[in-house]
Amino acid sequence: MKRCLTLLLAAVCFLQPFCLPVCAGGPDKPFKGCVALTFDDGPSGPITGKLLDALAARGVKATFFVCSYRIEKFPDTLCRIAEEGHEIGLHSCCHSYMHKMSREEVAEDITGCMQNVSECCGVRPRLFRPPGGLYSDALTEAAKDEQLSVILWSVDPCDWDPKNKNSIVSSVVRRVQPGSIILMHDLYAHSVTAAAEIIDRLQKEGYQFCTVSELAEFYGAELEPGGVYGNFPPSS
Ligand code: ZN
Repeated sequence: MKRCLTLLLAAVCFLQPFCLPVCAGGPDKPFKGCVALTFDDGPSGPITGKLLDALAARGVKATFFVCSYRIEKFPDTLCRIAEEGHEIGLHSCCHSYMHKMSREEVAEDITGCMQNVSECCGVRPRLFRPPGGLYSDALTEAAKDEQLSVILWSVDPCDWDPKNKNSIVSSVVRRVQPGSIILMHDLYAHSVTAAAEIIDRLQKEGYQFCTVSELAEFYGAELEPGGVYGNFPPSS
């Protein structure tokens, strides 16, 4: 009996990389876990376009937290993000910090951003990332009213800082774990180059990439409206 169980477990472990329902990208090593790449502050026209090319070439889906004022500049890019199967989350109208805003002010901002995304590409996001990751009770209550979960991150290579340009990849590869949410920005060419290398390196290590909603589902977490999540499972 024990031998049968061992054989069954071995078969499951062997097959797992090939039958995962949600995570894209084929690892060279045995499956290690799923992680989510997230990109804030876009869309950014040609830079986001190059990033989408790199993700498509590697069969990877990511999550984009977008701002209204960027959507107005690059509506076609937002539509491309949606059409190519990536997840879209809200990141406010104008990237103002929101932790000191009233519930009504937060609600007005979120509603405006939601409307922009919906009108542009017909998607109704279920995720919200507050600018700077700064939040308050008023913010989580307003997010709950809009049926949005608040998504933070667990790995931040600070790709916005030019000083870190050459250490983005090593910073992520060193700190990533199964269930990690990686924070990056589709604002800079060097972030696109780094994201491609991160994917290549982590796929070789046995990681697979998926969207934030898929990551939650994979690790058995229910995304509650108004709930705050930085990685999965939430308690890890
Ligand atoms: Zn931001």
